[in-house]
Amino acid sequence: MATDNSTAVQNASFRSAHSALVSAFQISGEEYELAEKNKLTSTTDWPLGMGLTGTIREVVSELGTLFEAALIARIAPKTFICKCGAPTCLGHKTNREWFDAISLLSNYVQDVETNAELRALYVERHFTMSGLRESIDDIAMMGEINRQTAEQQFNQVSGLLDEIESHAQEAITDALDSAGLIADQIGSGAVYH
Ligand SMILES: [Zn+2]
Repeated sequence: MATDNSTAVQNASFRSAHSALVSAFQISGEEYELAEKNKLTSTTDWPLGMGLTGTIREVVSELGTLFEAALIARIAPKTFICKCGAPTCLGHKTNREWFDAISLLSNYVQDVETNAELRALYVERHFTMSGLRESIDDIAMMGEINRQTAEQQFNQVSGLLDEIESHAQEAITDALDSAGLIADQIGSGAVYH
């Protein structure tokens, strides 16, 4: 693991952990694994290229699956634009990592008393922007429970996730900083925004 500056990517740094993750997660896990398997060295359409994308993904994964899931669910896109060109293509494809993260986190909040399907809906709602997410009313209707119950259950789930997210944010900021990837001052090297 790149925990010291000598193995970190030369002179590359980010304004924040958030900006590093936004860039790294623009490449799907599948696409990254495929590139790694085929030993690609040139990935011109990747915002960070192979090396830096891999380094950031590795730092995230070393935080453990729970923190990794929290960061992916918050920052990785739910879908990617698809350029496959197939006539049946919808123009986008789902991000499997995002859905895996939702599923892991739904399991994490299993002490909230409700059924698995509703837990997953609450977790998905927590990580989806207002305007795009399911309303509490719709979730209550789907689960055939009353609105107040749904709201209470959602708030419990959301509270647990907030806690995990804040620990995960702290951990990734420290880890990327130790890897020499966070810009601590205006100065040498490229700073990604
Ligand atoms: Zn496609």
